[in-house]
Amino acid sequence: MPSIGVLPPRGRVFRGSFGTRRPDRRLARGVGRIRMNGENCHLCGAWAEDGNRFQKRNFLHCSACDLVFVPAAEQASADQAKARYWRHRNTPEDAGYAAMLSGIIELLHTQSPTARRVLDYGSGPAPMLVKLLRESGHEAAGYDPHFTSDTAMTPPFDAVTAVETFEHFAEPRREVERILGLLRPDGCLLVQTLLHAGLGRFAEWWYARGP
Ligand SMILES: [Zn+2]
Repeated sequence: MPSIGVLPPRGRVFRGSFGTRRPDRRLARGVGRIRMNGENCHLCGAWAEDGNRFQKRNFLHCSACDLVFVPAAEQASADQAKARYWRHRNTPEDAGYAAMLSGIIELLHTQSPTARRVLDYGSGPAPMLVKLLRESGHEAAGYDPHFTSDTAMTPPFDAVTAVETFEHFAEPRREVERILGLLRPDGCLLVQTLLHAGLGRFAEWWYARGP
């Protein structure tokens, strides 16, 4: 079984208007918490029908595995997601981004010191982590459904990194199974994402604002 590590994004603290206004009781309660048309959880398959409505978008919550997800019919199209990607994605010129990626490589060296073949899953249009991994002696490849073809991936990999990628998965179960299939049996998966802190603190969750 591969080892899986989840780490929070560095410096990814919401600093928008929510933090500077007086606390809004409605937000503190969990933002228009409602019962919706349910559907099966996109990760574990359990039935989910509780959720939040926030900034005109619906989010379902799975009480079995704690996943928060956008109902299938309301998810962004591939073109919408790609357009949004170009607006917010970090660039190689961003020194903070480079430092964050260097921290991920350090963690990889700690967690999986013998890893040679590494895949960055969700590498984006400018695969900077792939470049840094190669510079540190790895045989690295990048994959991104918007910017590369599946042929970029030739398994098995000793390690897979997914940096602020998991939160964008429309079908997380399918993606996780795919990643586990790319790893060698005792490989290492490093995931950087921001877990939500419960529906009662939904408005504080960075990803409640993204597609
Ligand atoms: Zn679930």
